[in-house]
Amino acid sequence: MDETASPPGAARTLWALTSGQRGRYAAAVSAMAVGTVFLLLVPYVLKRALDALVSDEVDLTGTLLPAAGLIVLCYALHGFFTFLRGRWAAQASEGITRGLRHRLYEQLERLPCAYHDRAETGDLVQRCSSDVETVRVFLAAQVVEIARVSLFLIVAIPIMLSQDLTMSALSLALVPVIIFFALLFFRRVRTLFQQVDESEGSLTTVIQENLTGVRVVRAFARQDYEIEKFLERNGEFRDLEYRLFRVLSNYWTLSDLLVLSQLGIVLIGGGYFVMQGSISLGTWVLFWWLLRTIIWPVRHIGRVLADTGKATVAIGRIREILDKAPESIDETAGEPVRGDIAVENLSFAYGDGPAALDDLSITIAEGETVALLGPPGAGKSTLVNLLVRLYDYEQGSIRIGGREVRDLNRDAVRSAFGMVLQDPFLFSKTVRENVVIGRSTAADHEVEESARAADIHGNIVEFEEGYDTRVGERGVTLSGGQRQRVAIARALLMNPEFLVLDDSLSAVDTKTEAHILRSLAERRGRHTTILIAHRLSSTRLADRIFVMDHGRIVEQGTHDELLEAGGPYSRLWTIQGALEEDIERDLSRVTHT
Ligand code: ADP
Repeated sequence: MDETASPPGAARTLWALTSGQRGRYAAAVSAMAVGTVFLLLVPYVLKRALDALVSDEVDLTGTLLPAAGLIVLCYALHGFFTFLRGRWAAQASEGITRGLRHRLYEQLERLPCAYHDRAETGDLVQRCSSDVETVRVFLAAQVVEIARVSLFLIVAIPIMLSQDLTMSALSLALVPVIIFFALLFFRRVRTLFQQVDESEGSLTTVIQENLTGVRVVRAFARQDYEIEKFLERNGEFRDLEYRLFRVLSNYWTLSDLLVLSQLGIVLIGGGYFVMQGSISLGTWVLFWWLLRTIIWPVRHIGRVLADTGKATVAIGRIREILDKAPESIDETAGEPVRGDIAVENLSFAYGDGPAALDDLSITIAEGETVALLGPPGAGKSTLVNLLVRLYDYEQGSIRIGGREVRDLNRDAVRSAFGMVLQDPFLFSKTVRENVVIGRSTAADHEVEESARAADIHGNIVEFEEGYDTRVGERGVTLSGGQRQRVAIARALLMNPEFLVLDDSLSAVDTKTEAHILRSLAERRGRHTTILIAHRLSSTRLADRIFVMDHGRIVEQGTHDELLEAGGPYSRLWTIQGALEEDIERDLSRVTHT
């Protein structure tokens, strides 16, 4: 078993997590202890009153009324301390889980991209939500419950022993059997619990996939198949739930039988001893009452201990994330990153995969506009990922302004790059907030200027609330092209040293594309610009074009040079050129003015 999932490892982790909340926890346990003492005082008072009752010393106002008052008071105080215990335990556990969620979130933000490539998002979400919830329940309820039952036994057993040895033996005869039986049972049904969980998970997945892909499902007339699939999973889930309930009801019935037998033994045995005269009526009632108080929680402890196993597993899974090494901490100074880009003999592969870049060399001068062209999988995005240190390379070198990128401050590198991705991500915030993400202090006119350059201003002002319109689930739904243009506005507003457009115009129509290319041409020289393109229209804007394939540069030069050379670029041009005459016409106006 993994060390983190073993009980001692989990206990250490839990102990570390409770730092800052230990005072509250101690208060909760103390309140619980005081409350327990009051509860266990009740049978003692009862015994005294009863023994007085059967003797001749009974006297209503002197013995019985004070006893009754004392019992009421004990219950009231028990209730009060139970309330305090619940409150403090909840505060402590909420504090701890809040800290835990925060640490997990921070860690996920800092883990290298290579980790996220491998991890499944659904699995990570589950670890951050239901595993944390398991730990919370464990901290809030179960830890205190274990302490409470232990205390019950620690207090009740000496009281019993001090009264009568035989009765003590009778009262506790079945207790170990009850605990052992519960432990054994819940250990055995753990796999069943797990199966039910998994089955529920896969049911949720089917629903989720179908909701997300509802159009695809209809377009391919797959409704019947999907309904069939759902019915099947739904049936499996029902069967498992049913099995679980059957097993559980067997268990509760059997363990009820054990508990009631234990109570019966005390009732009958005690009655017999009272008749014999070897114990007093009060002692009999004391044993009966003590046992009645502790036996139900004791019966439940088996369940609690078994659930502890679940918490141990949850903690182990959380630890797996927390123990991963985050992106190495940067100690380099965050000087601004600028200058020429020089890539030399760069090779790179994702994990154990095939080479994504293969001995690639390329130089881009400061202020230059270059286009990277090539079929999907050629390595264009990989080159950019390495430029901004999303991944670290080992073979070859990338220098910006003469300094090795590997040795530059990661944040400084990333903030020098304005990136627009093919399928940009917008947050569920207003349009303005989405644009100013890279530069939150930008003035309104600057925001508008960038939006105009990205040809999205016109769309935005048509929205009812203009720049304050919310994007996403609770606001407008933007088309792919609009999202791309918001992302371009975002990048332009940063006025970055390096501007990267990774196939960012794929979803806009040709007229809009021409407009944006024109704005970019006007800004020529303000940024070093890298255009990743599939359409040739964008490449006309570039000072130089690099044609990539299989992680290498296969051709480079200006548009005219490459046409002349008669290689892959000119072949592409002939095929696509005919399709794009409109843009061509529009662009020639830009490039020749
Ligand atoms: P392009 O941008 O030219 O389409 P990429 O740089 O995205 O090409 O991909 C280059 C190669 O690296 C491809 O074979 C692709 O499958 C692989 N690749 C890209 N991203 C990842 C990733 N995150 N994990 C594993 N392999 C990847």
